[in-house]
Amino acid sequence: MTRNINLFFILLQASFIHATTAIPKVVIAIHGGTADHEEISPLLEKEILDGLATSLKAGYQILKNKGGSLAAVEAAVKVLENNPLFNAGKGAVFTEEGKNEMDASIMEGRTKKAGAVASTTIIKNPISAARAVMEKTRHVLLVGNGADQFAKDNGLEIVDPKYFYTERRWKEWQKSKQKKNQNKQSGLPTPWNRHFSLGTTGAVALDPLGNLAAATSTGGLTNKMHGRVGDSPLIGAGTYADNETAAISCTGVGEYFIRFGVAHEITALMKYKGYDVAKASDTLIQETLKPLKVEGAAIVLDAKGNLAFSYFAEGLPRGYVTDDGVLHLLIFEKETTQSLR
Ligand code: ASP
Repeated sequence: MTRNINLFFILLQASFIHATTAIPKVVIAIHGGTADHEEISPLLEKEILDGLATSLKAGYQILKNKGGSLAAVEAAVKVLENNPLFNAGKGAVFTEEGKNEMDASIMEGRTKKAGAVASTTIIKNPISAARAVMEKTRHVLLVGNGADQFAKDNGLEIVDPKYFYTERRWKEWQKSKQKKNQNKQSGLPTPWNRHFSLGTTGAVALDPLGNLAAATSTGGLTNKMHGRVGDSPLIGAGTYADNETAAISCTGVGEYFIRFGVAHEITALMKYKGYDVAKASDTLIQETLKPLKVEGAAIVLDAKGNLAFSYFAEGLPRGYVTDDGVLHLLIFEKETTQSLR
């Protein structure tokens, strides 16, 4: 009980918006899902920040060489998918059946083209499959075997499902199952147990031509039902990009992000009510989801390079690079910077 009270207190403490209207303008920003103090040792914190830095550098390199924002967000998310610390690709969480099912989506703000995959099991980098769906098909979303087969047919890297096993996620899954059983026995409702699922990944970018793009990739929620799909591969829920307003990537309990259409709603507030990135993201995360005690976050970048991170959680590992080549990394409100030039 005391722990719950303390946790609630910590959540209240941490439930403010960290927003920055950056000058100079932000060109790429990423998140690594929300984070709990209890789960993150100082060593893990350092490894997470190093992982974010590598991802940002990959995305920034593309923009610096006059590449597009779509390629930049794909590259940044791909690095996080290959890093076992994040809940996407290699570090994906386990389903109720002890398997990994991954979701990802990508969207381009200029054309409003989008691509997504859900419940994939053998695609090493679901974000690249999402991009291929966008560029090579007439569709937006492919799921399950259809998505896996499409990736194979299009020469994407295929791995054995065992590739996605990590000991850390397996242990989290076991703990989550135990907790679920305990709750069942004592007649308690099953909590979302998000702290077993932290680490979803996402990126937003603005390229030299003024085009925005957004990408999100996740393993979803630990112990989710086989076939459960969250917000991350759903355009308008977990991901959205529109040059007129903003590029957005979300993380949190997907069911709520789907019901509230969070990513698209943020752009609608900007478009029809004239809200800036901070006010629009705050309206959804702080005013709509926080009163429901739904943990989550949105990162929002507009076409002028204004960026907002809004989150209701203990922490949000995140980072961004501005057009002067300065990389900023943050977690639990500590900020470090380095010049990439
Ligand atoms: N939004 C993801 C999902 O519900 C999970 C997360 O962001 O942690 O699948």
